Amino acid sequence: MKALVLFSGGLDSTTCLALAVEQYGADEVLALSVSYGQKHTKEIEAAKAVAAYYGVRLKTLDLAAIFADSDCSLLKGSSQEIPKVSYAEQLTGTDGKPVSTYVPFRNGLFLSSAASIALSNGCEVIYYGAHADDAAGNAYPDCSQAFNEAINQAVYLGSGQQLRVEAPFVGKTKADVVAEGLRLNAPYQLTWSCYEGGEKPCGLCGTCRDRAAAFAANGVADPGV
Ligand SMILES: [Zn+2]
Repeated sequence: MKALVLFSGGLDSTTCLALAVEQYGADEVLALSVSYGQKHTKEIEAAKAVAAYYGVRLKTLDLAAIFADSDCSLLKGSSQEIPKVSYAEQLTGTDGKPVSTYVPFRNGLFLSSAASIALSNGCEVIYYGAHADDAAGNAYPDCSQAFNEAINQAVYLGSGQQLRVEAPFVGKTKADVVAEGLRLNAPYQLTWSCYEGGEKPCGLCGTCRDRAAAFAANGVADPGV
């Protein structure tokens, strides 16, 4: 194995997987899908479908226990509803703090776990799908360029310079991510982005809105809705 891809079954990480497969070949790519106590299993099912499409090995990891005390609105135990407005609107009420769908230090935790698994499987790089729109306004601070540089440094040093972290979209918008995925023929029809677990994407949550805008910016219909 050469590359581990942190893989949720959503649009961004599917594009990352497509890139890693292009770069290394499916046999050299390991996808890691993490359960964290989310309200539904749609994204895990999507992850399985996309991994099968590419013929890459998929490992799953359950870290839900770590978020047992969190009231993040994505989590099963939360008292909060998932907001049905754009991130920009959500951020007007947060006083510079992350949005309610921010899972506490999720990328930090996932990337640390991924580093241990990557080293055990001989991987030299971890890909993850952070992009600039998610970091905007501090909505998801663990998607920022500064966070990415710091965690890359930590993983590189802590692995004895054997492993690095690659966030190919960290300086790019979600529209750029879709443009790259279209070039790669990523199977977006198999992905799931919506925070709700309905039959179809809700179209109203922050991530549904961002996804729709990203496809619109590329002038193509979203095959996943
Ligand atoms: Zn939605």
